Amino acid sequence: MTAHDNIKEPSFRESVDMMFNRAVALMDLSPGLEEKIRVCNATYTVRFGVRLRGAIHTFTGYRSVHSEHMEPVKGGIRYALAVNQDEVEALAALMTYKCALVEAPFGGSKGGLCIDPRDWDEHELEQITRRFAYELIKRDLINPAQNVPAPDMGTGEREMAWMADQYKRMQTTDINGAACVTGKPPNAGGIAGRVEATGRGVQYALQEFFRYPEDVAAANLSGKLKGKRIIVQGLGNVGYHAAKFLSEEDGALITGIIERDGALHNEAGIDVDAVRAWIVKHGGITGYPDASHQAEGAALLEADCDILIPAALEGVINLGNADRIKAPLIIEAANGPVTAGADDILRDKGCVIIPDMYANAGGVTVSYFEWVKNLSHIRFGRMQRRAEESRHQLVVDELERLSADKNLGWEISPDFKERYLRGAGELELVRSGLDDTMRAAYQAMREVWHSRDDVKDLRTAAYLVSIRKVADSYRAKGL
Ligand code: NAD
Repeated sequence: MTAHDNIKEPSFRESVDMMFNRAVALMDLSPGLEEKIRVCNATYTVRFGVRLRGAIHTFTGYRSVHSEHMEPVKGGIRYALAVNQDEVEALAALMTYKCALVEAPFGGSKGGLCIDPRDWDEHELEQITRRFAYELIKRDLINPAQNVPAPDMGTGEREMAWMADQYKRMQTTDINGAACVTGKPPNAGGIAGRVEATGRGVQYALQEFFRYPEDVAAANLSGKLKGKRIIVQGLGNVGYHAAKFLSEEDGALITGIIERDGALHNEAGIDVDAVRAWIVKHGGITGYPDASHQAEGAALLEADCDILIPAALEGVINLGNADRIKAPLIIEAANGPVTAGADDILRDKGCVIIPDMYANAGGVTVSYFEWVKNLSHIRFGRMQRRAEESRHQLVVDELERLSADKNLGWEISPDFKERYLRGAGELELVRSGLDDTMRAAYQAMREVWHSRDDVKDLRTAAYLVSIRKVADSYRAKGL
């Protein structure tokens, strides 16, 4: 069941507003400033025609700008049939709060196109994407200084490369043109580590959470990430990377995977790469041999596990199923997977929710790095890498000389030497910047969570941190 199937459930945008209102009630903002931050500044709707398969097809798209307290504004473009104005505005609002929380210097925006990308072949999708981009570029809704899209559900590197190319065709003298969208492929102005960034951010968020035994205990859990049983919904870009890294690098067990065509379950753990390969080959998870399959996928959200990672759609945990959710810890890899009503029920049950605006901020964080790279026209690490290696070599040479001169018999292990001598390239720097960002933002949230009696959950804490920053920017502008 989704939010829209339940009449008591507010819309996605109303849900975001309710969460905002709950937080802002604990602040001392003037009602005028509060309203200014809450509302969405503008939403542009475009209907355009593309001649395909011998007929004109009309498509509807949106680009919503929630807050321009900083520019450019930033946010993904989603391709899905369910895209609508309410959803795009909710997602744009979340982008404002997310960017503020992780200190990415952007306002919030989001876009969407009502289309099922699986209905069209690659060439057709290119024509549709270029035409959509043309409409947005004409109105500065794609522009390196004003509005910078990125991938979201149903879009990826390929669509971003088409959009960037379309921008360059229309703005031939803009030397910063590559910065008009992020999430581009590495050979077209992208940055190492962007594709995996949101999933990597989910991993870093959980690693940081598990560094605080007090927080782990608040979720009725104990110990480390190793051995924790995880159910993930959506094995797309975000869900796949999060599940892969958590199982391969942190020793967690992926015990359940929910996809469009049902769910897989295996308490001994599921091989994430094998399932991904199966989906690519067969179009879904059905028939995957090494786990039990159930056709009613969403029911697995209610199964016993330590950590639940919704990484597909909004509104999947709602008034209809919240009281049956058993996971003591939920990390919102998707945007808005828990409705405002479900959030209340889960909080009362003692479930800890690591909120979307923090949990999936890895994508926009690395997008920020990509945008900076494009504006500086140089790859990260290009100037420093060899200098760093030479300095490290000096230390290793000196230690070896000392050992030989004084007959100390020291031997530096080859593994240490190899790792110490290697200067940081772009990927290492991106991961370091992302890890630092995720740690700092978590610490800011937990500080509020633990220091104020009136803040009962991480989501309210996240809103408090981010609204405060947005309010400060507006005040600095004289509003
Ligand atoms: P994606 O299109 O790559 O993957 C979505 C996955 O969910 C697909 O595998 C799809 O088959 C599956 N899915 C669709 N409907 C489902 C259903 N009813 N039940 C179970 N699975 C279903 O999208 P993505 O980029 O991974 O985005 C997923 C979520 O993460 C969205 O909420 C998005 O807004 C959010 N997000 C994405 C990014 C990013 O960088 N891509 C950044 C921040 C947030």
